[in-house]
Amino acid sequence: MSEKFEKLEPTVVPELNEILGKPFKVLDDGFVRVVDYMGSDESIVQAARVSYGKGTKKVRQDRGLIRYLMRHRHTTPMEMCEIKFHIRVPMDCWRQWIRHRTANVNEYSTRYSLAIDSAQATLPGEWRVQSTSNRQGSDGFAADINGQSFTDDETKLHNLSREVYNKRIEAGIAREQARKDLPLSTYTEAYWKIDLHNLLHFLALRMDVHAQKEIRDYSTIIGHEIVKKWVPLTWEAFEDYRLNSFNLTGLELEIVQLINQNSHEAAIKSADSNGWLEKRENGEYKMNLERIEFEEKLTKMKLQIPWGN
Ligand SMILES: Cc1cc2nc3c(=O)[nH]c(=O)nc-3n(C[C@H](O)[C@H](O)[C@H](O)COP(=O)(O)OP(=O)(O)OC[C@H]3O[C@@H](n4cnc5c(N)ncnc54)[C@H](O)[C@@H]3O)c2cc1C
Repeated sequence: MSEKFEKLEPTVVPELNEILGKPFKVLDDGFVRVVDYMGSDESIVQAARVSYGKGTKKVRQDRGLIRYLMRHRHTTPMEMCEIKFHIRVPMDCWRQWIRHRTANVNEYSTRYSLAIDSAQATLPGEWRVQSTSNRQGSDGFAADINGQSFTDDETKLHNLSREVYNKRIEAGIAREQARKDLPLSTYTEAYWKIDLHNLLHFLALRMDVHAQKEIRDYSTIIGHEIVKKWVPLTWEAFEDYRLNSFNLTGLELEIVQLINQNSHEAAIKSADSNGWLEKRENGEYKMNLERIEFEEKLTKMKLQIPWGN
């Protein structure tokens, strides 16, 4: 071969190497730890420069290039980085996690092995109330209940289901059938490997306030304790362009412009024509998620809500 190729070494990120294999505790008995990884901020920059040509290097520094990629959703350079986790997670949380189809997964088999003897327990002060604005979510801790009695019931249920399971196993019932009445709070373990682009997509969805608290706890640790150390420049851009930012729809932009022009009546008319301001008989606004989410955006921008709230 006439071409000369430079000698290459595997990518090493010392900050990530320091925590390789270290379990980060999540919930009462869960964890997440990094088992292996490939790539770094540098690999992303290198991959991007292959596609944009060598000249780009002079124009943009690494940080600027990564921010450009994030801003314009040029995602393939981020697929050059991969990471493998070992996680222990309750099955209800895992059921949400596994919906992310772009990872490679191997889960602990309760057909082959005995089910992990651990179920996620809830402390008396940790029971949450149903949210009224979001049918899927919770809204803070329940103050007016006897949390201890719910926790006691939970302990009884966990103990009973484990006793039933153990009894079946001792009688020689197949593990695949004996497990069927274990609660969703039972912990499972998995190896979960994913590229950085799809991991960031997972984190954007699962660190969001609309995600369930339990999976948010896992994703927040993955984001802040792991990804931030692994690819600091990408993490900084991700926080700026995804986590701490929001989009405005065409209609929302129109209303913001009207607010800025002090045309509050026109802003109300625009919202009303979109069906946001329908009222109940008692005069209160009907529940409208699009309006509520827009009001949250106005509050973040420190703009007045023209129709009040
Ligand atoms: C707050 C919240 C509430 C949710 N509520 C529900 C619910 O009530 N019911 C429910 O069933 N699910 C629910 N989900 C799950 C949600 O609908 C998605 O299935 C999950 O978040 C995975 O997202 P994804 O498909 O984008 O991710 P991944 O599966 O990781 O895929 C990443 C991206 O790859 C692409 N992709 C992957 N597979 C395909 C494919 N086959 N075809 C085309 N493109 C593909 C898509 O662009 C996708 O966004 C909820 C999720 C969240 C975050």
